[in-house]
Amino acid sequence: MNKNLRSSLAEKIRSLSLILVLVAAAGASAWAVFAVPTPIVDRMIENDLRKQSQHWQRRVVLHMTDVGDSFEEGRIRPEDAQDLLLLPEETDVFRFRLLTSDGEIFWSTRSDEIGEYETNAFFSTQVARGEVYYMHEPLPAYEVDGFPLQSNGFDSSITREVAQVYVPLIHNGQFDGAIDFYTDITDLRTTFVRRAQLSLMVLTSIALLAMTIAVYVVFRTNRFSMNQMQQQNKKERGILDEQLRLAREVQLLGELNEWLQSSRSLDELFDMVARFMTHILPTAEGSIYVYSNSRDVLDGCASWNGGSHKDHIHPEECWGLRRGRTYEFGTSEIDFVCEHAEPHDGRSYYCFPILAHGETVGLMHLRAIKDECPEFVGTKKLAQMCAEQISMAIANVRMRDQLHDQSVRDPLTGLFNRRHMTESLRKLIGASQNSGRRLSVVSIDVDHFKKFNDNHGHDAGDMVLRAVGSVLEQACDGDEIACRPGGEEFTLILPGLSQEDVMTKAELLRQGVEDVVVRYGEKALPRITISLGVAHYPAHGTMPQDLLRASDDALYDAKAKGRNQVCVADGAIPAPRNPAVQAAGALEPQDKDAAA
Ligand code: GH3
Ligand code: MG
Ligand code: MG
Repeated sequence: MNKNLRSSLAEKIRSLSLILVLVAAAGASAWAVFAVPTPIVDRMIENDLRKQSQHWQRRVVLHMTDVGDSFEEGRIRPEDAQDLLLLPEETDVFRFRLLTSDGEIFWSTRSDEIGEYETNAFFSTQVARGEVYYMHEPLPAYEVDGFPLQSNGFDSSITREVAQVYVPLIHNGQFDGAIDFYTDITDLRTTFVRRAQLSLMVLTSIALLAMTIAVYVVFRTNRFSMNQMQQQNKKERGILDEQLRLAREVQLLGELNEWLQSSRSLDELFDMVARFMTHILPTAEGSIYVYSNSRDVLDGCASWNGGSHKDHIHPEECWGLRRGRTYEFGTSEIDFVCEHAEPHDGRSYYCFPILAHGETVGLMHLRAIKDECPEFVGTKKLAQMCAEQISMAIANVRMRDQLHDQSVRDPLTGLFNRRHMTESLRKLIGASQNSGRRLSVVSIDVDHFKKFNDNHGHDAGDMVLRAVGSVLEQACDGDEIACRPGGEEFTLILPGLSQEDVMTKAELLRQGVEDVVVRYGEKALPRITISLGVAHYPAHGTMPQDLLRASDDALYDAKAKGRNQVCVADGAIPAPRNPAVQAAGALEPQDKDAAA
């Protein structure tokens, strides 16, 4: 059950219980209005009548000539009786009777009961002990003397509430008898009950109204504080989610940074970028372009999450590159689609120029994976941070490449230096040892190079070296390596070629250099020629220094034989097709076999 459902259910239960409380209070009030007043009113009337009875008693006593004697003897004088008959006229008493201490009724407003005895037990237990005894009960209306009866007056269903009070007559501490008064309290009782009910009704209504208001206020206050709490909860949950999201992003960015720093090449770096970006920004498809060395186009390097990249794009095709800052398509009222983003289907996208050391090195293009994607718009900041990380990583890899190049390349010709030459030769010898692959080394020296320096200056000499280097570099395919170990000397490492092919290649190189025309200022420099010495693995050595020494020896032979020619080290096969290629030593038959 989700939290919203739970809280709304709790609120409903609370409201229901408050309503139940109100209904219960209303029920209790109704019960109180109808049930409570009657006993209270009865109690009040009883108290009143007890007091009133004393008063009646006094009046009776006053009307009698000799009370003591009359009660003692159980007789009454006729004139007293006459006076006593006035009492019902003057008071609310409609009937009364005089009893002796034995309970004999010696006088009554109803003459028929004179002479009878009071049989109720309370007479001897309570009244005889001086206590006023009060009782009231409903009696048929015809029992009430003087009550105006209708034609069916003897209908016992018409009742009246009749109170009966026994008032003891105590004289000198002695119980002389009692007077029993009857009074009709029906009207009084009804009036009092109605008044009490009305008062209670008003009071309970006020109380109920106050209670309803209080409950309503409590309910509203609860609801208000509940809403506030829910809003607070929602806000806190939002903050927590945001913090978790930021923590995750920071962690992913950290991981991305760590991985990118450890990449050794741009290809590896782009693979990592594609994997990470799919994970970090799942709502975006993307691609990366990097400026080519010529800097006139950008090469598409990688794409991810369903994105695609073109082989090349021009810098003018991107508004981000043209304006030198992030371009955001889909957020402004007026925007233009970058040409490189065509064909475009209206989805939002970003173009982040990738900068490294203040220079734009490429472009990261991110596009929302679907038409309506509000999450994508919220990823700009994170995407920007990713672009910065990627920029740094590209700069690092490039710098590493540059440093590596500087450490292995000769700055004048761009060919590999001696260090790289020795290292590569050692590796290739190791590989040939394992695989039996052929391997040859060609040492090359420019003939009479000193003359170029002496006659035309060092710049001209440098130009000659660059021209020779260029011919050698162009001649190398695949894993063939052209080096300039120093001065006007060059070395070729040629794996996988037969001895014949090596000799042919050497000869073609010689011719190629000879054909080069180097212009220096107004005029062309004199013809350049080179001498070449060839050595094969393993015939002329199994160690780098042995092979190099053998090819150098062959080179000296070529120099000694008049320069501008190819010589092979002692024991190798001479180039068969070209007369310019001369063997430096005698051919050994076993070498021929080995070459085959
Ligand atoms: P040989 O045909 O016997 O090889 O004669 P050579 O003149 O080519 O040989 P030598 O060893 O007498 O002269 C080589 C010269 O190359 C000496 C040196 O000043 C020059 N040199 C070495 N390195 C460079 C360089 O980087 N630039 C220029 N311009 N000259 C260089
Ligand atoms: Mg030399
Ligand atoms: Mg030389």
